[in-house]
Amino acid sequence: MIVQTVPVSHYLTTNAYFYVDEKSGKGVLIDPAAEAEHLLQIIRENNWKIEKILLTHGHFDHIGAVQQIADTLRVSYFIHIKGKQYLSSPQFNLSGMTPKPIILEQAQYLEDGEMVGWNDDKSAGLRVIYTPGHTQDSVVYYDKDNNIAFVGDTIFKDSYGATHFPGGDFVQLMNSIKNKVLTLPDNTVLYSGHSEPTTVGLEKNNF
Ligand SMILES: [Zn+2]
Repeated sequence: MIVQTVPVSHYLTTNAYFYVDEKSGKGVLIDPAAEAEHLLQIIRENNWKIEKILLTHGHFDHIGAVQQIADTLRVSYFIHIKGKQYLSSPQFNLSGMTPKPIILEQAQYLEDGEMVGWNDDKSAGLRVIYTPGHTQDSVVYYDKDNNIAFVGDTIFKDSYGATHFPGGDFVQLMNSIKNKVLTLPDNTVLYSGHSEPTTVGLEKNNF
């Protein structure tokens, strides 16, 4: 699998991730936060077939390019079921603080433990691990076979997500990190929304 990190900016810089099977060119785009044209150009240049947009949570700095990319590629975007409240509310997704409030109404919803993949039989792909705390809709997308997890803003290299926004809960976040993230194998690489990659083994030293 190919992991391509693309830092994109709109007020904040966020890591968007392409996760693509090098053989078939099929894959997913995680957190297209901004710069839709830039992300679309990367897809065209690589001749990738992006099948789905996956969101780690519904904050404005992770969802800014979703609508344009979904419309252009004609693909669906997915978020945890609790993301409905965030995508429908500029107050919850924090885009109300910007001149351009964001409302996304066509998401498909995911539940804890579900598999999201790019093969029709869902035999390969990413497992949804529900990790509330930074927000009520935060999830980790975990590929057990390749020891990779996309963790959004739940945990960063040497840090963790903020909990002072609507729906944030510090105790819940610590529980999610300790019981859902740091229980993955030590060699699991964690790709976050706003830091360099880290690993479960390294982050165990911080909690
Ligand atoms: Zn966030």
